[in-house]
Amino acid sequence: MSKRKPAPRSRASQPTSVVTGGAGFLGSHLVDLLLSRGHRVTAIDNLVTGSVNNIAHLAGNPSFRFIQQDVTEFLFLDGPVDYVWHFASPASPIDYLELPIQTLKVGSLGTHKALGLALHKGARFLIASTSEVYGDPLIHPQPETYWGNVNPIGPRGCYDEAKRFAEAMTMAYHREHKLATRIVRIFNTYGPRMRLNDGRVVPAFISQALRNKPITVFGSGTQTRSFCFCSDLIEGIYRLMMSEESNPVNIGNPHEMTMLEFAEETIRAIGSKSRIVFRPLPQDDPKQRRPDITRAKSILRWTPKVPFSEGLKQTIGYFRSKV
Ligand code: UDP
Repeated sequence: MSKRKPAPRSRASQPTSVVTGGAGFLGSHLVDLLLSRGHRVTAIDNLVTGSVNNIAHLAGNPSFRFIQQDVTEFLFLDGPVDYVWHFASPASPIDYLELPIQTLKVGSLGTHKALGLALHKGARFLIASTSEVYGDPLIHPQPETYWGNVNPIGPRGCYDEAKRFAEAMTMAYHREHKLATRIVRIFNTYGPRMRLNDGRVVPAFISQALRNKPITVFGSGTQTRSFCFCSDLIEGIYRLMMSEESNPVNIGNPHEMTMLEFAEETIRAIGSKSRIVFRPLPQDDPKQRRPDITRAKSILRWTPKVPFSEGLKQTIGYFRSKV
């Protein structure tokens, strides 16, 4: 097997990026950031959970092209590529419950194809991994050194294990082929372009509150999450790709709250007449989640900047036009 030198270098004056899942919530925000920093960008998406609406504003941009393709199939692209960002995957619990096999395939076969593309092009590679690799964590907050508490055969196993496999495959390419690889573990993120009906708590609560419908808190609402605004997250991920760090790095906002607190805050921010109702807690729903971002702070000099109240306001503004 040939050992290739790791990437990255700009062969042309304009760096070239490939973003899988480029029409998704986070993928499309990444595409915007890359274009604003002078990259030529190819977005690939099969539009299973992504939407062309997220990239419609880029039509006619000579630095951008879109290819509708499933990334589990062979990726053929002409010309040089400097950076491969592998973002394609269903990412909300409802989506991956409905699409368990596609979720497993994109995390495994899709990651293999995206790594193969990076290797062939001599590009740098970044995998969008997830806090779900920590499962229902027994250590709090979660540092990158924690190996996690995942139920491989539970309903979330298709996503968690696909991403764990994706990390293992990425490290194998790094070690075997000396590929320059990056692993970001993304914690709960919110902002414009989330799908109204993706089932995640942010679009669910905001759309319910905007319609003055009951807010569906699962379980007793004491489970916690820590929400990061999308622009903060994408900046952290960009810095990671440009760094020399091949070990996983958590990117997220440590501002932690219970789901009950989040429901109350949403009602307050909207001035909604919604009341809170309680629904059964889904199986294996993590009880707590908060990133330890010491590594991101020290290696990337990154911390989240957007306060929750401000991010929530922007997100509500986006959803107002959608409900
Ligand atoms: N949740 C909720 N009501 C909803 C949707 C979600 O209480 O209508 C809870 C869910 O049980 C979980 C948290 O909100 O504890 C975050 O769920 P989400 O689906 O956004 O993502 P997760 O962090 O679980 O992947």
